[in-house]
Amino acid sequence: MDVGARMDFSHLVAYLKKLEVTSSQNAMIEILGRLFKEADPDEIGILCYFLLGEIAAGYQEISLDMGEKRALSSISLAIGVEEKKLEERLGEAGDLGALIAQYDVPPHAGGFTEYFSPPLPLTVRALHEGLTAIASASGEGSDLRKIGILASLLAVATPEERRYIVRLATGAMRLGVGDMTALDGLAVAFLGSKESRSFLEQAYNLCSDIGYVAEILQKDGLSGVKRIRITLNRPLRPMLAQRVSTMEEIQEKIISKEIAVEEKYDGERIQAHKDGEQVELFSRRLTRVTAQFPDVVREIKQHVRTGSAVLDGEVVAYNREKGTYEPFQTLMQRRRKYRVAQYAVQIPVRYMVFDLVYRDGSPLLDRSYPERRASLEEIMEPSELIAITDRTIASSLDGIRSYFEDCIKRGLEGVICKSMAKDSVYEAGSRSWKWIKWKQTYGSELPDTLDLVAIGGNLGRGSRAGTYGSLLCATYNPDGDVFESICGLGTGFSDEQLEELPDKFGKVRVGEMPARYRVKKEKYPDHWFNPAFVLEVLGSEITRSPMHTCNWDERARKGLAVRFPRFIRWRPEKSPVQATTSREIAELYRQKGKR
Ligand code: ATP
Repeated sequence: MDVGARMDFSHLVAYLKKLEVTSSQNAMIEILGRLFKEADPDEIGILCYFLLGEIAAGYQEISLDMGEKRALSSISLAIGVEEKKLEERLGEAGDLGALIAQYDVPPHAGGFTEYFSPPLPLTVRALHEGLTAIASASGEGSDLRKIGILASLLAVATPEERRYIVRLATGAMRLGVGDMTALDGLAVAFLGSKESRSFLEQAYNLCSDIGYVAEILQKDGLSGVKRIRITLNRPLRPMLAQRVSTMEEIQEKIISKEIAVEEKYDGERIQAHKDGEQVELFSRRLTRVTAQFPDVVREIKQHVRTGSAVLDGEVVAYNREKGTYEPFQTLMQRRRKYRVAQYAVQIPVRYMVFDLVYRDGSPLLDRSYPERRASLEEIMEPSELIAITDRTIASSLDGIRSYFEDCIKRGLEGVICKSMAKDSVYEAGSRSWKWIKWKQTYGSELPDTLDLVAIGGNLGRGSRAGTYGSLLCATYNPDGDVFESICGLGTGFSDEQLEELPDKFGKVRVGEMPARYRVKKEKYPDHWFNPAFVLEVLGSEITRSPMHTCNWDERARKGLAVRFPRFIRWRPEKSPVQATTSREIAELYRQKGKR
């Protein structure tokens, strides 16, 4: 296929099939590199989204709303088989994609042109256009429209192509390609080797849109990518804090004469973009959560005195009578689509702003923390429900300790210590030593809880029959873009939580181990899950173990594991790639000697 020609979808499908059977990360990157080289400028972004199983950047929150029922109606229309018959065969086929591929109906232009008429053969761009049209169909008649458009796309496709179209449309692509693997592929295609991925990653940290990075890279090369800046209404990946195991280490790591010790809240990280009178809010997962917090939007409009700004802060449930913060669980009741206004009154929140990274057209990321804070103080008019984080400036360990103790007395979770040195820039997407969290430890030997991904489940027996007895948990390793097993987790769940497990994981269950998992045969669970749910776990210590692959040491034939893990809570605001990394576990293991 020539560069410049339209890419037929069948051409992409040949690549998808190869990717599906490849488990080596390097081989996958090579395949992606070849594919990206063949793409047209207006196709490369689409290819990135498709490979990740999406049709746009995650933060755009585009949903096709194509459940099993609608998809079955489309399939029935496209291949002329009764819906009931399809339903009967679905269980045996496993999933909708496998089901449709079983019917050898040749491509034909369907009779659905009133909705959408894709070309025959189907192209990558036409497929994207159709899927986008499905997502934007809303209101009266949208049900038929969605079904009709998908049917027209399926009609012009071959049985094999249909398999992938259905999977894309229903959000079940599961190729095992993660963001970082896709960036590696782009680096191989346009920069010669995956060693240059870090440049692309930096740009990705600022715009959170892999399709956009790909387009700029193809069009303007590396210099174009380096010019990508923080933009209003595009979330940037948040800067994160490191952890240490003794308070003395805070001073050793933050090399700055004075350290800002800020209150640490147990709420939800929210990034706010103010563009004139328009305000958008983004979660830690970089999804748009504006509709969930109309009260925060109102406070920003009223109390942030500047044309445009990007604020970083924490939304915390707030007791207005007592003037105190409420726990994270209380805030979670605000995660809802309906009766938002009623809950905004019932469960008020306070937006505690701790950073300003953009103001009136200028990025402030490269400015020091004291400069950014001064700028924030200029534009914020604190009030009851929006304020700048309280802090003290400490120049000694005693200063840090006494402020921390004061915070604990006031019911806070701890403190975040921040460098005030000249180089205390905002490092988007990085867990930086310029910020260090210090929390009250929960009487455990580990200084912090871990956020792990549930990757599999073992069926329960006895009192746990009908649900899972334990979940296999993993850390994320960004170097290989893989998930590495670290423990089985069976304690800490309430009866209610246990009962919910089969339903919760039923939606993400898959027949085989996903390509990005690293698990020892001995630990293979009864059921595999796609990476979807993050849970917070408290453990007694990190130990070496031949059973788990986290930080696997081939010579010693051992990895790292968590001892006595206990479930604390679900972390719906975190995506799997935001889980604790394998490197953080190695660091905790290293610190063990010091405690
Ligand atoms: P992380 O966000 O670091 O992956 P986590 O979600 O488990 O980890 P913690 O380890 O408890 O959270 O602490 C870090 C989080 O604390 C930040 O991501 C932010 O949401 C929150 N936070 C609260 N107060 C502050 C503050 N003053 N400065 C920065 N972050 C704060």
